[in-house]
Amino acid sequence: MLKAIFTLDYEIHGNGTGSPLALMIEPTERLLQLFDQYGAKLTIMADIGELFKFKQYFEDNGRDDYHYEAITKQLCDAVRRGHDVQLHIHSSYFNARHDKGYWVQDWSEYDFARLKFDRMDEMVKQGKQFLETLLQPVDPKYKCTVFRAANWSVCPSQNVIKALLDNGIEIDTSVFKYGRREGRVNFDYSQSFHQLAPWRVDEHDICQQNDSGKLWEFPIYTEKRWVGAFLTLQRIYRAYLSRIHKFEDSSVESNSPETKLPRKSFLERLLNRMTLVFPWKADFNQCSGKQLINALERAHANYAHDGVALPFVLIGHSKLYSHLNEWSLRPFLAHIEKNRERFDFAKFNDFPLDKALNSPGREHN
Ligand SMILES: [Zn+2]
Repeated sequence: MLKAIFTLDYEIHGNGTGSPLALMIEPTERLLQLFDQYGAKLTIMADIGELFKFKQYFEDNGRDDYHYEAITKQLCDAVRRGHDVQLHIHSSYFNARHDKGYWVQDWSEYDFARLKFDRMDEMVKQGKQFLETLLQPVDPKYKCTVFRAANWSVCPSQNVIKALLDNGIEIDTSVFKYGRREGRVNFDYSQSFHQLAPWRVDEHDICQQNDSGKLWEFPIYTEKRWVGAFLTLQRIYRAYLSRIHKFEDSSVESNSPETKLPRKSFLERLLNRMTLVFPWKADFNQCSGKQLINALERAHANYAHDGVALPFVLIGHSKLYSHLNEWSLRPFLAHIEKNRERFDFAKFNDFPLDKALNSPGREHN
């Protein structure tokens, strides 16, 4: 049995431009309506760096231009309807200032994993407190226990793991197998424990499994795929959006990394170009419904044989949820709904965090 967890990064454009109404509230409401039709569950990964700034802007100016009230109302409403809200942190927003209609971020705090321990600890603490204070009146059992870093940046991981555990976070969901970045954020997830199954993380390295580890990693499902798998209409739309909302500071990577070649040695780059193989994340905004169905079926054939329910973690972004995307996503939701003996929809807290979760057998690449 595989249970799909749809995680939605809830934020404006990476360069600090855009309206939360158009990029967060309106598309997320359409997504919630679609999911409710199929009994699917959405997990909103709310960037609290931005939310704090929108709140401060409202208080300082007496005008809610960034729709802070509508955002908090939407998060409460999602929990009331049985969906989930968890913690996403774009650390560069904590010191951001508003200037001529957009948010000028603090690029020295862009890479979450390279912040000093006390700084990341403070951000996680504030984020968790904020979400629990907001959402416990709606659901007294609500707890913020899941985290995703901006730009998937959780390496080096020793401080990140400690900051998460010290604040009662039980699950990280930033890692995707085969992922590599060099630049403003730096990580190499190529040796991660698994492409699908969760693992207890080694306290020194989030990619490694250790039975005595206290934090769990629920990786975003990823396969190595030929470059042709990346040619979907939704991905072309995303590339177009990235182009018009690119960073002012050209040294900051745009938010479209998986279509780029990672920086490696000349020989590695040459081999990569020849094989044209890249990490393909289960991204429900950018992959077609047919691709997602095929990936889910492959994951099921490879891993779902010993009766243990395993998560199939997908990623999406509210700002990318277009009408075209809705049209392509429906068959995937319908496929899960029709095949409930093998698949289901889930939230993170539907999974008991015990040993059975990380015994999925040999990995198939
Ligand atoms: Zn984000």
